[in-house]
Amino acid sequence: MHRLLKRQIKKILGEAYLSDMKFQNFFQLISDFYDEKDKERRLLENALEINSLEVNEANDKLQKMAFYDSLTGLTNRKLFEEELKLTLNQLQRNKRNIALLFFDLDNFKTVNDTLGHDIGDSLLIKIGGMIQKRIRSCDTLARWGGDEFVLLLDELHQIEDCSLIVENIQKAFKYPIKVKGHELQVSFSIGINVYEEGQSSSEMIKNADMAMYKAKENGKNSYAFYTSEIGKKVLSSVKMNTALLKAIENHEFIVMYQPQIEISTGKIVGAEALVRWMHPEDGLIAPNDFIPISEEKGHIIEIGKQVLEQACYDMKEWVTKGYGLKTMAVNLSVKQIRQKEFIEMVKDILVKTKLDSSYLEFEVTETIVMKEYEHTFHTLDTLRDLGITLSIDDFGTGYSSLSYLKKLPIDKIKIDKSFIDDISDDENDVAITKAIIAMSHSLGLNVLAEGVEEESQLKILKELKCEKYQGYYFSRPVPADEFEALLKEQK
Ligand code: C2E
Ligand code: CA
Ligand code: CA
Repeated sequence: MHRLLKRQIKKILGEAYLSDMKFQNFFQLISDFYDEKDKERRLLENALEINSLEVNEANDKLQKMAFYDSLTGLTNRKLFEEELKLTLNQLQRNKRNIALLFFDLDNFKTVNDTLGHDIGDSLLIKIGGMIQKRIRSCDTLARWGGDEFVLLLDELHQIEDCSLIVENIQKAFKYPIKVKGHELQVSFSIGINVYEEGQSSSEMIKNADMAMYKAKENGKNSYAFYTSEIGKKVLSSVKMNTALLKAIENHEFIVMYQPQIEISTGKIVGAEALVRWMHPEDGLIAPNDFIPISEEKGHIIEIGKQVLEQACYDMKEWVTKGYGLKTMAVNLSVKQIRQKEFIEMVKDILVKTKLDSSYLEFEVTETIVMKEYEHTFHTLDTLRDLGITLSIDDFGTGYSSLSYLKKLPIDKIKIDKSFIDDISDDENDVAITKAIIAMSHSLGLNVLAEGVEEESQLKILKELKCEKYQGYYFSRPVPADEFEALLKEQK
């Protein structure tokens, strides 16, 4: 008897009826009915279960079809657009550099026409996988359609990094790709749009697409930036980098000298070596326009070496000629100091130019010595042991504290131009300058004031017992021959 029926009989009629023979046949009849119903119920349950599995699977498939490219399995255009919008929304809260790249395969039509769509399809799948391997997990690669791919680069440390990623991808396609027994050489034209505040997702795509056409015009296998203001900057920094490499090789740098004057005598006692770049087409370029990028890219190490050698060479000549010059000041960048070979390089140059080390002075900024104290201390100490003097450049703009200064192996302080600028009419600047000079003297340090442009400034500095000054009031930085002429005048 069906267990449900048993339970019902017990409940309604009482347990005694279950064993009553008069009711047995009747119960059996109903029991069959119960069994029948039960079977139906089970069948129905199973059917429902199967159904929901099928629905899920079908949904997944639909979802995939809607958001992923059926050939390559990459994100498709629709999902990419959604993701781009989402990223742009997030940018308002979490500011970061992003860039959109538009890839168009060069000569894909030829592959399709000559080898057939089958090979063409396999090639696209392979390419998708190869690009995917060279991007980071925060980036999104999508197939835009046909032979076009789009790439969203997120979380770029600096916008210049997109050139590195592109070049890395291009490198992957340097050699032919094997597809079903064929060897195919693949290259792309790539357009890059670096995100700028206010751009919409569709503008980003449109700009990258426009840049891609520019890349095609430049010749295949190349990339181009959408040249908005930021784009122009990236482009020029990329160009700048190549130009700098060439400049180093061709020794395009020249060194100018700005006189350092002893206030008590009015005589030139030193020179600061200041580099300029004599660009073959663009003419003279100021250090502020190429030193920062040279520091970033590490070119400053080679440029600094060329400047040091030239400065020591010229100084040796002026010392020999007896102009009474005591100091040749050369600016140092932190990249140079950090270099292991730095000390050896300095020694080599002193030997080569036969300049006595006591004539050489290195200028370092406060920030270098403060930030890199542990690293640079040893190097600065060694330089000092060699007999070279050290000065703190742009003093007052960093965070030096008096106690720190005492610990540093330095001989001289150069008060930054910003304090000198208003010294004739700002009581505060006079007070600060006075304090810096008094403090330096108590520490046994010499003081030089930078950027002196007027007689009134010089007068105050004299009253404050500042030892030396530098500035347009006496002379701008000038080429070596003009500097020598100034020396001759005072002999
Ligand atoms: P800096 O070391 O503070 O050099 C002083 C700068 O102030 C020089 O600019 C100089 O021409 C300018 N100057 C001097 N007197 C006056 C003045 O009276 N008025 C005004 N308005 N400016 C004055 P410059 O030559 O353009 O150099 C700029 C910066 O580039 C330098 O600042 C230095 O930080 C860097 N630099 C120059 N040459 C080298 C180098 O060989 N190596 C490294 N690492 N940096 C260098
Ligand atoms: Ca300097
Ligand atoms: Ca300075």
